[in-house]
Amino acid sequence: MNLFDLAGNGGGAAAAPGTVCSRKACRAAAEWQLLWNNPKIHTPERRKIWLACGEHRAWLEDYLQTRGLWKETAALGTVPLDPSGRIG
Ligand SMILES: [Zn+2]
Repeated sequence: MNLFDLAGNGGGAAAAPGTVCSRKACRAAAEWQLLWNNPKIHTPERRKIWLACGEHRAWLEDYLQTRGLWKETAALGTVPLDPSGRIG
């Protein structure tokens, strides 16, 4: 349970653009950034970044780890954001 759920999804005022959780349909403010790399399509030093709220951090980590893509999870703000690194 988190406070943003209680506020509803109408305004989207809870989080600034670019800092919203990457989980589909989630509008919560992100607290974590998940760094990942797909060796089939990215160079080894490339890092894609997904954002995760506290509720979805484990879900997104598991998604990436299952596919062998996960590299690191860091607190939001510690790594520069890649605006394209989101779930489509
Ligand atoms: Zn979320």
